[in-house]
Amino acid sequence: MTRNPAVRDLTCRDCGDSFDPADATGPCPACGGHLAVTYDLDAVDVSTEAFADRRYEGIARYADLLPFAAETLVTMREGTTPLVPCPDLADEWGVGEVYVKDEGRNPTGSVADRGMALGVTAAAEAGAEDVALPTTGIEGQAAAAYAARAGLDSHSFVPSRATFDAKAMINVHGGDMSVVGGRYEDAVEAFAETVAEEGWHSLAAFETPYRREGHRTLAYELAEQLDWAAPDAVIYPTGEGVGLAGTAAGARDLAELGFVDEVPECYAAQAAGCAPIVEAFEAGATETEPWETPDTICGGIEIPDPAGGAEVLDAVGESGGGAVATVDRDVLEAAVDVAQSAGVELGATAGVAASGARELVERGELGADDTVVLVNTLTGNAEADVLRSHLMSKGI
Ligand SMILES: [Zn+2]
Repeated sequence: MTRNPAVRDLTCRDCGDSFDPADATGPCPACGGHLAVTYDLDAVDVSTEAFADRRYEGIARYADLLPFAAETLVTMREGTTPLVPCPDLADEWGVGEVYVKDEGRNPTGSVADRGMALGVTAAAEAGAEDVALPTTGIEGQAAAAYAARAGLDSHSFVPSRATFDAKAMINVHGGDMSVVGGRYEDAVEAFAETVAEEGWHSLAAFETPYRREGHRTLAYELAEQLDWAAPDAVIYPTGEGVGLAGTAAGARDLAELGFVDEVPECYAAQAAGCAPIVEAFEAGATETEPWETPDTICGGIEIPDPAGGAEVLDAVGESGGGAVATVDRDVLEAAVDVAQSAGVELGATAGVAASGARELVERGELGADDTVVLVNTLTGNAEADVLRSHLMSKGI
């Protein structure tokens, strides 16, 4: 048994039924809804001091607060990414402190590695030989890498507009790839038609309960890096929502354990050309409506019908945060601004965190005493052409 004994069960978000993790490895067997891992926090026997002595690097340091034992994880030491202070940005915006949580430093250059480490661990534990997912690109690269490490075959369904780099690296890791004409929803459809027929283990966001679990570690690291205090606000570029949902769940459990005093306000940052979560948040809705005509340069988060829409709306609402959308030009300008004022390379897509933060400052939602964390979900190199095009459009 390699499961963390503090895991209580998997509980369905939709119907409320609970399952033994050995019996449910994908969506809810009763209704097809999303399963979430629940923990018996009273059974977690760990202290904040203990983490400092952990010999494991990366997310395995926090295995007491994850579903699997450290020795079991399919890991490349993802996580333990830097929290980079950006004092000039804080001055410019008039907020207390600004940090970039630089997820571009992960093994495949994105925050997806945190989730995929857990997703592939769970797939291997379940005896899967093949894993599959629809992806805008970068999650497919991560899946191909972790599947390769675990000795599994991976199958990524990507829209034709996915970046060359992501498609190339899926191949480099030996992953099988179906490039689907059209946009992300076409790739989702092609995936759905194939995955059940082939009997592949799904790594689609929220179809596996475990990608979300891997993203808890971002909240754990933020708290530890801030000397066991929660930041005031976390601004998270949001597509399907699995990263933000996991981060919020991790933050909530840390507060329940008494490791931190409070949870950060979590904000979903989206591009104005595809912002179903922002639209739903502003309407006070509990679920997202599919975005009719997605149109943003931020292909990585152009997700018109996010699987985690309802969960993200819950999470940001509970945290006292919200959702913010900015137009592409502001997104790219913000990414360039951070690169030029702080030296930190944001992925173009992750520019939404910086432009979103600026918008929140203008609205008065972030203030002079606030510690603000921008999550850089993707290495700047991955979308360098988009940032360069932006400069060229300005005649630079
Ligand atoms: Zn259910």
